[in-house]
Amino acid sequence: MANSLQGKVALITGASSGIGEASALSLAAEGAHVAVVARRGDRLQELIHRIHDLGGQALPIVADVADEQQVKEMVKHVKNKLGRIDILVNNAGVMLLGQIDGANTEDWRRMVAINVMGLMYTTHAVLPIMKEQNRGHIVNISSVAGRVARAGSGVYNVTKWGVVAFSEALRQESYKNNIRVTVIEPGAVATELTDHITDENAKKQQGEWLQGLTPLESEDIAAAIVYAVTQPERVNVNEILIRPTGQD
Ligand code: NDP
Repeated sequence: MANSLQGKVALITGASSGIGEASALSLAAEGAHVAVVARRGDRLQELIHRIHDLGGQALPIVADVADEQQVKEMVKHVKNKLGRIDILVNNAGVMLLGQIDGANTEDWRRMVAINVMGLMYTTHAVLPIMKEQNRGHIVNISSVAGRVARAGSGVYNVTKWGVVAFSEALRQESYKNNIRVTVIEPGAVATELTDHITDENAKKQQGEWLQGLTPLESEDIAAAIVYAVTQPERVNVNEILIRPTGQD
């Protein structure tokens, strides 16, 4: 039987839309007190109201995960306010697709700063708290792009491959402290992710590709996260790869 998350604290980055927002709602519905992080405070406020209306508990934090100092302060704030951190969902990310040749290298820096450095800073700041608790669960959102490289996705592939590698090393370093590590690798999910692509050609191609399939919903990924974090303590779900049925 699944464990309830009553009394647990979950920190979710990138919770102002898409997968992070759905995960916050689902984890709160399971009883977790959710600390929700993103840069868009107005979107977090809307989410907080929805969670409260459903009888859940939530703490909004406006922070940029690419800024290590802000990450340290956000984690300290959660610990001070809520006393502990049981679950970390490292979800914040951007997918700025485009060919390597002729790319705007500012897109590369943004992807590495958010998808990789942001995830690593947050993990680094949360780990001492989980070690002190001798318990914790870190869920890292990678992608099918962390398993299969494609033309036009090279640097996004770099970041998501990095998340998979980091997660496995983290698991080996952390299991003796009863810290579980799960990496989730979604295929196409209907979210705002593609809105931020700056290369118009890549954006058009991605839009056309998406029209050829029925993408996953954010709730499908939230359900996978809930599955992983509600297993008995002896169960460490290391990896979940989920594609839409119609994705190649
Ligand atoms: P969205 O664009 O809907 O959500 C991305 C979230 O990340 C937003 O809440 C955004 O909030 C937040 N974010 C972005 N940059 C930062 C930052 N610097 N600091 C804090 N928060 C930030 O996309 P998804 O829900 O689809 O993406 C969530 C994760 O899932 C990403 O890691 C993505 O790579 C991954 N993924 C998505 C897939 C898909 O097809 N949608 C497939 C596979 C993986 P704000 O802008 O307010 O800061």
